[in-house]
Amino acid sequence: KPVQFDRIVQESVNKMQMLAEVKDIILHTEIDSPIPMEADEERLHQLLVTVLDNAVKYTPEGGVVRIICNKLAHSVQLEVEDTGVGIAPDDLPHVFDRFYRGDKARTRQEGGTGLGLAIAKWIVERHGGRIRLESKPLIGTRVYISLPL
Ligand code: ATP
Repeated sequence: KPVQFDRIVQESVNKMQMLAEVKDIILHTEIDSPIPMEADEERLHQLLVTVLDNAVKYTPEGGVVRIICNKLAHSVQLEVEDTGVGIAPDDLPHVFDRFYRGDKARTRQEGGTGLGLAIAKWIVERHGGRIRLESKPLIGTRVYISLPL
């Protein structure tokens, strides 16, 4: 179905705003508009919320989450970059595995199933796109998502 990707991103950011404010985290957005595409709106919303929730969840107070969304000729490129705890190099290859949770996450009090990124990857691939993560421990994490229009 035809959807406006920029609106889905903006709505997901708005949903996260309150949680970010409580942690004194700034959500910085640069979103091209309009970005019409063929997609499953509900699934894309779930994808965005999962990635944004992780960014806020794994970023300490006072941090910044940058959401950058660029429309190219045939695809949309989304980057979600945080100033969070990062992911150890040993953990990085496993973050898309079902039920995998990093050391830092396992020892946390707050909930989490380790399913979020597995489902996110499934949603991206169902749309013919790609998702990958880059991370530096104690510096932060960047999630790249590319989806065809
Ligand atoms: P949930 O499924 O409830 O989101 P989760 O966050 O533990 O739980 P995933 O979203 O699948 O599960 O993430 C898997 C693991 O990847 C996390 O446990 C965490 O260690 C790591 N991770 C994911 N996103 C980030 C991030 N932005 N910064 C640091 N670590 C991250």
